[in-house]
Amino acid sequence: MSSLLPTPKPGILDITPYVGGKSTGGSGQTVAKLSSNETPLGASTKAKTALKEMADKLHLYPDGGSTALIEAIAEVHKLPTDRLICGNGSDELLSLITNAYAGPGDEVLFSQHGFLVYELAAMANGATPVKAPEQNLTTDVDALLAAVTDRTKILFLANPNNPTGTYISADEVARLHAGLRSDILLVLDAAYAEYVRKPDYESGAKLVAENDNVIMTRTFSKIYGLSALRLGWAYGPSHVIDVLHRVRGPFNVNAAAHAAGIAAVKDQEFVEAAVAHNDKWIPILTQSLRGMGLGVTDSVGNFILIDFAGTGKEASAADQYLSDRGLILRSVASYGLPTCLRMSVGTDDENRAVIDCLKEFLEA
Ligand SMILES: *Cc1c(COP(=O)(O)O)cnc(C)c1O
Repeated sequence: MSSLLPTPKPGILDITPYVGGKSTGGSGQTVAKLSSNETPLGASTKAKTALKEMADKLHLYPDGGSTALIEAIAEVHKLPTDRLICGNGSDELLSLITNAYAGPGDEVLFSQHGFLVYELAAMANGATPVKAPEQNLTTDVDALLAAVTDRTKILFLANPNNPTGTYISADEVARLHAGLRSDILLVLDAAYAEYVRKPDYESGAKLVAENDNVIMTRTFSKIYGLSALRLGWAYGPSHVIDVLHRVRGPFNVNAAAHAAGIAAVKDQEFVEAAVAHNDKWIPILTQSLRGMGLGVTDSVGNFILIDFAGTGKEASAADQYLSDRGLILRSVASYGLPTCLRMSVGTDDENRAVIDCLKEFLEA
């Protein structure tokens, strides 16, 4: 037998596989899963009904072009249907973008604590991931622009960013775009856009409309509560959308996701309720934890980043203490933030339980 083995392309074996947020604690019990930025409100009742109703059609292939869903998204967001594409989660779209626009010798740029998927997508395609430093756990436009080279092909910007929860203003995003060569694709990942209620924030739709090198990605996993179905979409220039249609799988979005997604996007009342719950809890959580001496970023998402530096306690010990009590937060050491934990906003009871437990932990 030959000792040669099938060998993956260069870079693939350097990838550390993505590990999602934990679901259970040390004791095996879960009181609150606050590790993946999921919504505490579940999904819209209308989306659940639509999902049940499609069960009689499981034997039929889905519409490969996601036509009806694209029409629903276009109507709600007032966007042109021919510049939208749906994906199996926005993660798939981020991968397809990288797959189509970056390869060996190319650089994929993002900020220091940017979403992990950007690095994974770059490496899976043999491209070189490049990180630009942040200021105060916030995207630094000047640092990103300074990190651009002749080889840069894609710049990923999560705005607001996960796991920091911070954002940059529409003016800052425009300044970033203005400083880029026209052959660099700027990807605005607006996974948490629905949660942001800052007057100087913009999801990126305007920049997409006015330029040929900007694409915005969105998801049904966060505020819509459809994480299990894997559904995302993107709005971009026609020439980029055309390229993504060529590289996507023929039936990349399943029919259950289509049915639930259409009902979900039309239920904007549900979205408003989720925003209201979040707006109530982000300040309470932030102030309560800061009051205990913990660092908390100014988050505009549905999660907060808690920093244990300076408390004399380790984030990993806090993680253990919380998870022993069934409270599951997210370690963010893989994001270069070993002194921090990320917490999704949960139900009233879940949030109170974490506040009480952290207080106990810090006093212990
Ligand atoms: C959660 C998240 C996504 C979305 O992922 P899906 O694949 O749509 O579930 C994308 N970007 C960021 C920054 C996220 O936090």
